[in-house]
Formats: sequence, structure tokens, C-alpha cells
Amino acid sequence: MSTTLAYLKQFRLAGIAKSLDLRLSEAAANNLSHREFLDILLEDEKTNREDNRRKKLYSRAKFPVQKHVSDFDFSFQPSVKKQEILHLATGAFIPKGENIVFVGQPGTGKTHLSIAIGLRALEHGYTVLFTTAHDMIISLQAARADHTYKKKIEYYTTPDLLILDELGYKTLTATTVEDFFEIVSKRYEKKSTIITSNKEFPAWDTIFFDKTLTTAIIDRIIHHCHTIIITGESYRFQNRKKDGQ
Ligand code: ADP
Ligand code: MG
Repeated sequence: MSTTLAYLKQFRLAGIAKSLDLRLSEAAANNLSHREFLDILLEDEKTNREDNRRKKLYSRAKFPVQKHVSDFDFSFQPSVKKQEILHLATGAFIPKGENIVFVGQPGTGKTHLSIAIGLRALEHGYTVLFTTAHDMIISLQAARADHTYKKKIEYYTTPDLLILDELGYKTLTATTVEDFFEIVSKRYEKKSTIITSNKEFPAWDTIFFDKTLTTAIIDRIIHHCHTIIITGESYRFQNRKKDGQ
């Protein structure tokens, strides 16, 4: 390895190491000054670091799939206001610690819209974590058993945006409700949360058992909240109808 490459490696300048050969021949061909050449190399390093950071944040966000606002057919789901989703996709709700709750039957686009908003939030530089409500609960329970509870609580409380998908399909037990409350109250007014559910708020006491805790959870979530109730039918069903199945 040349001395230059060895140093670039030692100083962790991977962006420059990757582009060096190309930039050397470009500099020779275009008669670039030393200063111009150096500027270009440093720009390459900056771009490479930004790319790496974006990739790392994307992989930490744990999206199950990629969905975009541009793929969402708003004419199929008129109860979802395009302007509102476009506004939420700017990420402006995040520094204000506001929440979003999507309520609707299966297949109405709740997960799609949550991921789409989450991806845009990432692009705006916010940290995001996607999980199902059930997986979060299971993971917190496991953490209680192996004494990593505090760390796990932090894992769910630190992201700027936490997406809790599919709340309501499974009823929580007494201890898991406490875990859920812990996350909601720690994030309250500081961090944003998106929740998707097949149940409207009045039915949430069937999810959380305890009426007092249900009220405490709902109060904190809806205090600064964009609630989007999707009343239409399933997009999957519509596709099956279109395909003649
Ligand atoms: P939910 O989370 O409400 O059960 P999903 O968001 O998973 O529903 O939607 C089911 C499938 O249909 C996904 O592949 C999603 O991308 C697609 N989909 C749902 N609604 C729409 C829509 N209005 N336009 C385009 N695709 C949609
Ligand atoms: Mg879903």
C-alpha cells in the first residue's frame, strides 16, 4: 500500500481514499491547482461521511419496508388529507414533540403512511425507530428479566421519532401496561411518537386493562396530537377486486 493510502486509512479518511485515483487523473487532465484539488478531495470526504451517517441512521430505524408518500393513492382514501400528510412529512411536528395517531381497519395504509413520514424525518436528520407495539413490549419484558431494563427504556425513549405499529391487536398484561406507560410518559412533550391502531381511543381500555393507566396514557398521547382516522376500506381488498381474485 502507498504511504498516502496507509495514512488515509490510519486517519480514517475513507472518502478521500476511495476517490483519490479518479481525482488525481481529473486534476492532471484539467490542470487543477493544488488548492482546487484539495477542496475536491475534502468535499469527497464530507459526502462519504454524510452517506455513511445516513445509512447508519436508516439501518438503526429498522423499517420493515420502504414506503413513500408519493406511492400513496389519496383518491382511494379520501379520509386522509394529502395536505396534512405532506405537512407531517416535513417533520415540523418533531421538534414540537407532537404525536400522530393513525386509526383504521387493516389494509387502510396506516403502516405505509407511518413509514413514509418516518423516512422523511430521517432525511431531515432526525433519529427514528420503527417497531410494533407488541415487539417493544416483549423486548421490555425480556429486559426486565436480564437486567437491561434501563438500557432498553433508553433505546425506546431517545429516538426523535418512535413509530409504534399495530397497537391494539393484542391486549397488554398488567406489567406490560406499566412498561408502555413508562415509554409514553418519558417521551411526553419531548419526543414525537406515531402510533397506529385498529381501535379508536374510547376502545383503548380494552388494550390496557387498567382504566386509570389508560386515561393517563391517552392524555399524554393526545395532548399534542394529530389524529388521523381512516374510514375507508382495505387497499389490499381493493387490489384483489381489481385483479379479479
Ligand atoms: P395497515 O397498516 O393500515 O394495515 P398498510 O399500510 O400495511 O395497511 O397497507 C397495506 C398495503 O397496501 C401496503 O402494501 C400499502 O403500501 C398499500 N396501501 C395501502 N393504502 C394505500 C393507498 N391509499 N395507496 C397506495 N398503496 C396503499
Ligand atoms: Mg399495518
